Amino acid sequence: MPEFQTSPGMRDILPPESARWRRFVEVFALTVERAGYGQVISPLLEDLGVFQRIGDATDVVTKEMYDFVDKGGRHIALRPELTASVCRAFVQHRPVTPWKVWYHGSQFRYEKPQRGRYRQFDQVGIEVLGADDPNLDVEIIALGWEFYRALGLTQVKLLVNSLGEPEDRARYVAALAAYFEANLHQLSDDSRTTLQKNPLRVLDSKREQDAAIIAGAPRIAEFYSEKAAAHFAAVQTGLAALGIPFTVEAKLVRGLDYYRHTTFEYQGLTLDSAQNALGGGGRYDGLVESLGGPATPGIGFALGLDRTLLACDDEGVFAAPAAEVSVFVVDTTGGAEALALTTQLRAAGIAADRAYENRSMKSQMKAADRSGATYAVIIGTHEIEAGVAVVRPLRAERTPDGEGTQSSVPRNLLIDHLQKALS
Ligand code: AMP
Repeated sequence: MPEFQTSPGMRDILPPESARWRRFVEVFALTVERAGYGQVISPLLEDLGVFQRIGDATDVVTKEMYDFVDKGGRHIALRPELTASVCRAFVQHRPVTPWKVWYHGSQFRYEKPQRGRYRQFDQVGIEVLGADDPNLDVEIIALGWEFYRALGLTQVKLLVNSLGEPEDRARYVAALAAYFEANLHQLSDDSRTTLQKNPLRVLDSKREQDAAIIAGAPRIAEFYSEKAAAHFAAVQTGLAALGIPFTVEAKLVRGLDYYRHTTFEYQGLTLDSAQNALGGGGRYDGLVESLGGPATPGIGFALGLDRTLLACDDEGVFAAPAAEVSVFVVDTTGGAEALALTTQLRAAGIAADRAYENRSMKSQMKAADRSGATYAVIIGTHEIEAGVAVVRPLRAERTPDGEGTQSSVPRNLLIDHLQKALS
């Protein structure tokens, strides 16, 4: 065992998996930039207070934060999510609304590591600040859906719910608390503790002991005001019009006080139920205000990259792209020819690699095979004298004639020849 290893819950993402991560973000960027979202790149560190505004009642903020006092005496934290940073940026820069942004980056939460749950994990997401329109809710939910489709995932279930207006929600929370209090003896110890902090969160309990009591709990839908009911109906009509299947899940109540109206979650049906949330989001109010800005409605989602890729593995889609070059230069004359030729090839847009340390022809050919290149270009003393290079197909099936015939090509025609052969 080496002395130093990644710390628990943190991983090195090596090639070719890292190329898959990059493509994941590229596909996401394509999906959302087509819809007018621009990328926000914000710092990994923020003042601890930025995150405390998300809500002191959540584990993310109270237990899982990587926070410390820096050399200037500031109490700062590694971000556990990006919505708060986006809202902080909005207040700081006051862009024109609606402000439609997307992001990608690592988040940090001191959680118990397991499959699909890490201490450093990546998310992509979008947020829109300054528009309160059910059509926007539909646009956002649809973009997430479209993104999963673009990856090739089919085993994704969309759950939606509405928390109503803040007053509806407050009345619901009071009714829920009263109901749980009345049935306290049937609740698990953990849920009793949760009840004191946030009755909504009791609905998240996956403990068997709580199942029956949760099933009989009052439903938020009974508390909707007319406005809330109309908003939610419009969202459902919009999703149906776009042909996006969804299930209304009354228990989908985000614990944070800021959430109102639409909430949603994408579940990966192939994943273990404890870690099957691929992503989720919802509408929120008051977050911008609590960070010192004007009252501004917001809505967004965050999708977990790590977990979504596990779902891709399960479905056998969105594989890591093969890290292959097109041409491998084999130079048996010392290596300077390979240096010149690979530089020339790369400048012409052809991915090219070579061997180092003046290895034998046999060893260089082995490296050429391993590289996945379609062609080896071989240069020996004889070729230099004749002003040619030997082009040897390494994968006959990929060559234009399908036979993989080796040819000797004049050096001044070589790039042209390879460009044609590879096209
Ligand atoms: P949240 O910000 O908690 O709503 O999480 C949004 C998404 O991020 C989840 O659906 C997961 O896919 C992902 N996620 C959250 N926490 C973790 C974690 N500790 N490890 C890996 N992915 C995570």
